Amino acid sequence: MGTLRALFNIRFLFTSPHGTAAPTAGGQPPPFQLRLFGARNWTWKGLRLCLTGSSSDARSTTTTATIMDEARAPAEKANPSTSSAVLPPTTTTTAATTPGGSGSDVQGALPLRHGHELPFVAPSSYLRPKAATRAMAEKASSPLDKEQMQGLRGIREFLKVRTSYDVLPLSFRLVVLDNDLLIKKSLNILIQNGIVSAPLWDSRNSTFAGLLTSTDYINVIQYYCQFPDEIDQVDQFRLSNLRDIEKAIGVLPLETVSVHPMRPLYEACRRMLKTRARRIPLVDTDDETGRETVVSVITQYRILKFIAVNNEQHTMLLKKPLKELNLGSYTNLATATMSNSVLDVIHLMVKHNISAVPIVDQEYKLLNLFEAVDVIPCIKGGAYDELSATVGDAISKRAEDFAGIYTCSEEDRLDSIFDTIRKSRVHRLIVIDDDSRLKGIISLSDVLKYVLLFGEEDDSIRA
Ligand code: AMP
Repeated sequence: MGTLRALFNIRFLFTSPHGTAAPTAGGQPPPFQLRLFGARNWTWKGLRLCLTGSSSDARSTTTTATIMDEARAPAEKANPSTSSAVLPPTTTTTAATTPGGSGSDVQGALPLRHGHELPFVAPSSYLRPKAATRAMAEKASSPLDKEQMQGLRGIREFLKVRTSYDVLPLSFRLVVLDNDLLIKKSLNILIQNGIVSAPLWDSRNSTFAGLLTSTDYINVIQYYCQFPDEIDQVDQFRLSNLRDIEKAIGVLPLETVSVHPMRPLYEACRRMLKTRARRIPLVDTDDETGRETVVSVITQYRILKFIAVNNEQHTMLLKKPLKELNLGSYTNLATATMSNSVLDVIHLMVKHNISAVPIVDQEYKLLNLFEAVDVIPCIKGGAYDELSATVGDAISKRAEDFAGIYTCSEEDRLDSIFDTIRKSRVHRLIVIDDDSRLKGIISLSDVLKYVLLFGEEDDSIRA
């Protein structure tokens, strides 16, 4: 496949992440370079599209970030405090030697092996309140509740006056895949670029064609399981066949949602919650051609990080302990053990419509976490038959810079969770007790939902 084929200059509004969009000094929008890689004879096969920004604003030359890479990128190297929060592997629990386990959906356990003992990361304990008696908590509940609501209202107001565009770094790269690309090849492109999703582009109609995520690969795996004789056909599937795959396996197609980058961030958040999308593409219309343009993709993580970094005066008011917030899931948790196959865990994720499964031993102590994005390297090169490998094996092949698993206790507070999000690349927190036993799971969608919707009726009454 060829490499560079074209270099364009496109017009673009430029904005600081902390302000509204505005042309740069002198009133001229800065040049953005749109670079197309991998196009073959202009058929856009295996298209890799890099959108890089530059402007007269000195800050833009110092910041480079990858918008698409949200879940599996290296821990933020710019923030040494993240790695210092990682506990050594010796803090993980001892291996289970007998099968079975309380509450585990998938039974069976193996001794803990080298590579399985990945580190846990806990929110900053210095922010954790000292254990309070129930009487003390009740006595203080009223001011605490008021302060909590004040914090939530402040964050909501902030989301209403900021746009989705504000969340984007000053300079970024965007990988867009042509809908005609073979699914097998798309996997390699994601892995090579260290990303876990990409917008799809229909080059025949010049339209945005949806977002490729790990859920699509899980659908292909389900198709393979239901029609094992069609492995040759599976190999020939293109990204444009993903909708046919959904129909064949009987899953509802994901709603193709997008938002305009200049709409309030609050709108993107509401749309994400409504559709259960964990990421949402920002789609604009080109003034000259009238065609759709995918500007970038924003994720729940990116939004919560934006709040954590820019709205600390309100996140610091969220001081109620998690156990009083009903935030996250604490019952019917889907879990697995190290000896379960990757396929078992994938079926579990599909059944519960979740993106991560905690891995526990027979005492229900947390050992690790298998995430939907972990599926991508497992099927690299179309190796669907390797899905019978154990979760333990799959996890041991993770990149060395894997950020670790983030844990918290029910005594933790949302302010310390935002503090962790501010410093680290967190996608979910596993709630454990003092003995590392699994208590619950808090995903970013839980946090976003709470931040946007808790007490909303009260809010609208006051408004
Ligand atoms: P997520 O898939 O991480 O966006 O989570 C979607 C919802 O499922 C959230 O309310 C989570 O609290 C919940 N959830 C996530 N993982 C699990 C799990 N392993 N078992 C039960 N519920 C979960």
